[in-house]
Amino acid sequence: MNQTTLNLFDTMKRQIIPFNAIKNGKVSLYACGPTVYDYAHIGNLRTYLFVDTLKRVFTLNDYQVNHVMNITDVGHLVSDGDTGEDKMEKGARKQNKSAWEIARYFENIFFNDLAKLNISRPNITCRATEHIQEQIEFIQSLEEQGFTYLTDDGVYFDTRKLNDYGKLARLDKLGLSPGKRIELGDKKSPTDFALWKLSGRRQRQMEWPSPWGIGFPGWHIECSAMAEKYLGKQFDIHIGGEDHIPVHHTNEIAQCEAKNGHIQANYWLHGYFLQLDNEKISKSGVSLTLNTLIEKGFDPLDYRYLTLTSHYRSHLNFTWQGLAGAQKARRRLMTKLQSLPKGGKIDPSYQSQFVGFINQDFNMPRALALVWAILDSHLNGADKRATLVYFDQVFGLDMEREVKLIIPVEIEKLAQQRHQLKQQGNYQDADQIRAELEKLGYQINDSADSYQLSTMS
Ligand code: AMP
Ligand code: ZN
Repeated sequence: MNQTTLNLFDTMKRQIIPFNAIKNGKVSLYACGPTVYDYAHIGNLRTYLFVDTLKRVFTLNDYQVNHVMNITDVGHLVSDGDTGEDKMEKGARKQNKSAWEIARYFENIFFNDLAKLNISRPNITCRATEHIQEQIEFIQSLEEQGFTYLTDDGVYFDTRKLNDYGKLARLDKLGLSPGKRIELGDKKSPTDFALWKLSGRRQRQMEWPSPWGIGFPGWHIECSAMAEKYLGKQFDIHIGGEDHIPVHHTNEIAQCEAKNGHIQANYWLHGYFLQLDNEKISKSGVSLTLNTLIEKGFDPLDYRYLTLTSHYRSHLNFTWQGLAGAQKARRRLMTKLQSLPKGGKIDPSYQSQFVGFINQDFNMPRALALVWAILDSHLNGADKRATLVYFDQVFGLDMEREVKLIIPVEIEKLAQQRHQLKQQGNYQDADQIRAELEKLGYQINDSADSYQLSTMS
């Protein structure tokens, strides 16, 4: 395969560039991981689906991917302006558990969600709390080179020392007046950011000694220190959600350039947000988890299908109707594919169209549309199946898996209620529930002392 045809959108330069800078067929990739103070919402998961799809595209192009992801289990403050509480400590208080407990608990659930969505694990997962020394050394190097200053509150990065601070987001430093858009506190400039925060009189569960006093690392430093440890001073791609452009990635770029004298990653890619009825979805505000979708009878892969219908650089507005459409389409696709004979060959013409789409800035919607074109095409059944299974290496939809019916929790409850009523001899109310279930699209078949639910065809 011609690797120079792979094109990525480079957010920094705002242009599509030929992706020929990746050497020796090996991609080094750092993806900002979750802050584990609560359940991941499906917006977060959209970003990790994007990372997974990107890895699959590289793999199909015969690249070997080395994927590193951090777990933010300390230091991510409620406000991006370095004020407010640590999200971990706040989450711990809310849930009446220790910050350490909730960190491990939600990290576990996060990885379970990834598995349900067919997202492969990173080669290396690293926790911020287990890399305190690396972060301290990073800050010391910045300090030696004169990029930091000390306040009563901690060690700050002095953004005035870098000429091109904010180039990723094209930030206009002069436009940021103190106290207006960002709280200044002890900072010399509104864009300065904390590298190390001192605990001071705050009661903290997570804190460590440092040359500047007892405290904890700022959020941005963890990614820079761990990325450098596992991928070196310069690597290929750094990924996160679009919210990382103005603050988190901007600050990572600044501190790495200050320390090492060059850009840390060659490409900075950002997944655009999933929105809920055009509102921002967030863990602390309007949230929706993968488990909620499952309870409502959706397969996690229905959600994966839905995310493939939009480009990663477009906002995706989540609606239940949209998800139901994705569910229907995925089931139809799987049923059709599974009715086709095995043993065919991948069609070369569709293959090259497919590779063309995915290699042009990951155009998944166009690649997905090709699936339906193939099903309607004149190819023989076995070749259709072989070609679609080849595509599925990138889609990750498990197209050959048995189509299983997931019963929504509410429906299961109604069915159980009806079963009990029947056992009590209350056939009138039981029949009423049967009618209600039928209206909702479910059919009940009774056996000796049990029942089975199926969808009305
Ligand atoms: P967090 O757990 O808040 O650190 O976020 C984990 C990842 O999810 C980051 O890469 C965020 O940029 C990303 N993210 C947050 N909200 C959304 C959203 N609504 N849609 C897509 N990605 C998101
Ligand atoms: Zn990060």
